[in-house]
Amino acid sequence: MTAPVRSVDTIRLSIPFEDGGRGEGITPSRWHRFDMVLVRIEDADGMVGWGEAFGYFCSTAVAAAVDELIAPQVTGRVIEDIPAWNLATQKAIHLFGRYGIGIFALSGVDIALWDLQAKREGKSLAEALGGRSRASVPAYASLVRYGDPELVARYAAEAVMQGFGHVKLHEIAAQPIAAARPVMGNAGLMVDVNCNWSVDEAQAMLPLLRQHEVLWLEEPVFPPEDYASLAELERQGIAVGAGENACTQFEFRRIVDAIAYPQPSVTKVGGISVFREIAADAAASGKTIMPHSPYFGPGYFATLGLFSLLPEESLFEFLYVHPKAWAGRSTPMPDGGRVPVPAGPGLGFEPDADVLARYATGGR
Ligand SMILES: [Mg+2]
Repeated sequence: MTAPVRSVDTIRLSIPFEDGGRGEGITPSRWHRFDMVLVRIEDADGMVGWGEAFGYFCSTAVAAAVDELIAPQVTGRVIEDIPAWNLATQKAIHLFGRYGIGIFALSGVDIALWDLQAKREGKSLAEALGGRSRASVPAYASLVRYGDPELVARYAAEAVMQGFGHVKLHEIAAQPIAAARPVMGNAGLMVDVNCNWSVDEAQAMLPLLRQHEVLWLEEPVFPPEDYASLAELERQGIAVGAGENACTQFEFRRIVDAIAYPQPSVTKVGGISVFREIAADAAASGKTIMPHSPYFGPGYFATLGLFSLLPEESLFEFLYVHPKAWAGRSTPMPDGGRVPVPAGPGLGFEPDADVLARYATGGR
């Protein structure tokens, strides 16, 4: 980039969604709104880049971290090398922790810088990353937790009817898990436990998961960083996915070593720069990245662009719910189980001004 950054701004959005369920407890309280933190960077030439920092239930804190920790590392500067800037910023803020809100904030700014740089170069994100451009990528339907076998069967069947080749459940009990396979034909099935089980409970579920030919078991146990137990579960015959709660390339090397399906989340892990490093580590180790991407703004677009660095088997996570609105104009939707990749320039994210005005939340 040749022009200095003039401003870094955050916009908090809270967009309601419907999923046909009862808001069963993955999150700290009932989950029926997407909270997100948009990051808008403008340079001295008036060019604008957009990013997204993870904001579920924590958007006020994340926006504050962008404003107070990360923005001063960017404003007034010319950023020529975004990964080098990212690493320097990690060092500058490390005393606030290497996980969580500080790195979420870094992620949002990193994404916005990549968007800005790619736009300045007239390239799509895939081109800016030096990856292979793809017209579309395969997606899976990521169902919310219903806790009800009938609802699981209804929505799993609906997703397969719509062309999704894979469906992921967020169920933790045997009956709802068992309800999906009979309605799914040959479609792939995954089960995400969000760290609900003990190691003993996970082992007790293995026969059921194998019987239903689960492609991967995601975050089965608490704490999420108990990689030794995840590796042990793989030795007992189930592929494991994990990583949405981990940040930085350093931490992810342990995940890449431990399990089959590392799951970096671009709005949490450190942004595009860090995701790219993890993609290289996974490729070198023969592991298949399955990105965590239940997003509805720039994080969604950034993940699609990052597929230029991923193998054919990688699947895009599409959260199977109905938001009241989409933050980006022309957000590409799944069609026959694939999601088109925007051609750019940049991420391809263009905010819908009406949606931003309507769903912006105050406070910062
Ligand atoms: Mg998950």
